[in-house]
Amino acid sequence: MTATRRKKVITIETRQRTVIRAGSRPTAKIRCVFCGTEVEMLTPENAAANFDTGLREIYRGIENGSLHFIEIKKDSLFICVNSLKNRTR
Ligand SMILES: [Zn+2]
Repeated sequence: MTATRRKKVITIETRQRTVIRAGSRPTAKIRCVFCGTEVEMLTPENAAANFDTGLREIYRGIENGSLHFIEIKKDSLFICVNSLKNRTR
């Protein structure tokens, strides 16, 4: 990850924090830096449940770059629905 990209991510995280706190819903509309647009994001647990896969597969997708994600603080991870729909197994 380049320094430029990292800076971009941090800016977005700060702006979206209120959205996440606004409710306890597991999804949120967040601007995906990979898609370049606002998309629905799911927690890893919900992503696994909604896309009929396992948490391991979700984390593997994050690791290999096939899934878009945004990390809000250390323990809040959201997965881009677009990338879930387009992911290759
Ligand atoms: Zn995305």
